[in-house]
Amino acid sequence: MLMSVIVPCYNEEENVPVFYEELLKNTPFFEAEGLELEIIYIDDGSKDDTAAQVRRLHERDPRVHLVSFSRNFGKEAGIYAGFQKSKGDYVVMMDADLQDPPSLLPEMFSYIKQGYDSVATRRVSRKGEPPIRSFFARMFYKLMNKISKTEIVDGARDYRLMTRQVVDSILSMCEYNRFTKGIFGWVGFETKWLEYENVERAHGETKWSFWKLFLYSLDGITAFSTVPLAISSIMGVVFCFVAFVVILALIVKNLIYHDPVAGWPSLVCIILLVSGIQLFCVGILGQYLSKTYLEVKRRPIYLVKEEL
Ligand code: UDP
Ligand code: MG
Repeated sequence: MLMSVIVPCYNEEENVPVFYEELLKNTPFFEAEGLELEIIYIDDGSKDDTAAQVRRLHERDPRVHLVSFSRNFGKEAGIYAGFQKSKGDYVVMMDADLQDPPSLLPEMFSYIKQGYDSVATRRVSRKGEPPIRSFFARMFYKLMNKISKTEIVDGARDYRLMTRQVVDSILSMCEYNRFTKGIFGWVGFETKWLEYENVERAHGETKWSFWKLFLYSLDGITAFSTVPLAISSIMGVVFCFVAFVVILALIVKNLIYHDPVAGWPSLVCIILLVSGIQLFCVGILGQYLSKTYLEVKRRPIYLVKEEL
């Protein structure tokens, strides 16, 4: 049996060898289970020596593979590439920064042996994270689970062990806007959730700025829910109804009490409010349209520069 380990790396030169050492601490476990190993580092257009580090490992250990992208395509593209290149009967993906502890692998594998198709992990605390980020992350998961039929678990990490069947199902979803957390929920299968305390990154800094995360959350919403579109239609209907009632009230007031409406400040406020809402709704429409546009172009999800 072969186990593929997929490691997306973006500027992780320090972590690449550390991760390798840490993963190989599980060697007794791999041998006991009769598992061959294949480690695929996806160099996501790193600007540092990540690729060189992987090359060095590859020379020492032929089980180490490198897929180097022509530029930074994002972690989602890295995961997809890793799945495509993997040959394992079991596939696990984890971050290079050791925030996904390889020491959890034996426990994860024991659940696969029990018959689960996929073993996923979530962190129970958000320790070491800025409070504002935690707050928005929680809000996002709450909102997402209200407006989407696909279940997206709060605190879920991208650390997962899967059978070949699950990986092939994920690969069959060839969409361009990839929101992995949603894709895992969407494909289904029996998933066991393991919880663990948040671990700080070994070296380097997180690649996710607040702004990047915000845009990523919008990607997630447009990819797995069309509720915002429905909300904008409903808002349109509600506003028409309100306008209709007010018009009636004004006519009656004018005819019966001969009291024409005065005041153009109120008019300006209404125009601003309504045009603001209109722009907001057009914006929502635009979000979906832009995603459709990118999807329709059928551009490749990633481009490979080098492969070992
Ligand atoms: N990563 C990637 N491409 C990117 C950004 C990140 O391949 O454009 C990798 C990164 O090298 C790491 C993993 O994705 O192995 C998770 O990134 P990071 O640790 O920065 O995210 P966090 O753990 O803070 O959510
Ligand atoms: Mg990390």
